[in-house]
Amino acid sequence: MREFELIRKFFQHEQADLLLEEKAQASVVLGIGDDCALLQIPTSKQLAISVDTLVADVHFPADAKPDDIAERALRTNLSDLAAMGAEPLWFTLALTLPKNSEYLSEEWLRGFSRGLFRTANQYEIVLVGGDTTSGPFSITIQAMGAVDSQYALRRDGASVGDFICVTNYLGDGAAALAVIQNGLQLDETHEHYLRERFYRPTPRLAEVNLLRSIASSALDISDGLVADLNHICEASDVGAVIDVENLPLSPALLALNDVHQARTWVLSGGDDYELCFTVPPEKMPELAMLIAQEKINATVVGEIISGSGVRCELDGETYELDSLGYQHF
Ligand code: ADP
Ligand code: MG
Repeated sequence: MREFELIRKFFQHEQADLLLEEKAQASVVLGIGDDCALLQIPTSKQLAISVDTLVADVHFPADAKPDDIAERALRTNLSDLAAMGAEPLWFTLALTLPKNSEYLSEEWLRGFSRGLFRTANQYEIVLVGGDTTSGPFSITIQAMGAVDSQYALRRDGASVGDFICVTNYLGDGAAALAVIQNGLQLDETHEHYLRERFYRPTPRLAEVNLLRSIASSALDISDGLVADLNHICEASDVGAVIDVENLPLSPALLALNDVHQARTWVLSGGDDYELCFTVPPEKMPELAMLIAQEKINATVVGEIISGSGVRCELDGETYELDSLGYQHF
């Protein structure tokens, strides 16, 4: 299949319906097909922009289902927009596919395109351009969104005394990898749950809508809680203590009957794409209300202290970590 045929067939016409939607009509002056897309940034907002490359067999198994790969690629990028407090608007897609490979088959591309637009439609983000080349299999997505400048959830806003919170459960991403890559066996329901968590992480966009005026800082957890929380500490010039007892573990992780392993995955695993955010004490009643009303699923896991670095504690003693989170180099 020729490059332009591929683009037209799998990435251009698919979103005809979506382009009719109000959002795309208002903001995409010119989409796929010209040298650049022309986009109208909503007045009085700031552009939030982030790019992520997913390399086959580093960030996802190359033989995974094409729609799973596409969903994961877009969802992890949407997670960055959520973590900044931004509303998704547009994305670009740079696809590098090996020559004469199965990835160029009609079937694979159809599956990839299906997964991509299923997610794009769900989270109302519009594909506005990209690049298609041959080479080692990788996927780069650039996500763009809009954020009210005063409500951007930056990493540098935490203060001593703030509570450290996380959404949903942690550790599932690393546990899923153990299932997918290392043949860890759990019962079928738990394995299914973990695979879903890996391929379809939920960008916490709904939660962030509620947290924007409550949280003092936030990020999404992709490299393990300790490594990511440390980014908040460095940016905010503070330290943090994590209460290991309170880490939220999913039923799948609890079923493992190995709390130490589960906690290690939470603290230094990765791929969770949950939010870690800090909340000043005076805003805690608001958060408690949201949790009680089940509008948000969040857990307090620690506190911001003076100093630097992240310390983990269990029963008043320092909890030593086996490793320090995923590092590419
Ligand atoms: P150029 O040579 O000007 O870079 P290309 O030939 O790379 O243009 O792409 C033609 C058009 O198709 C551009 O509008 C580009 O944004 C779009 N495009 C290319 N690849 C993709 C893709 N994988 N997904 C979406 N749009 C794409
Ligand atoms: Mg190009």
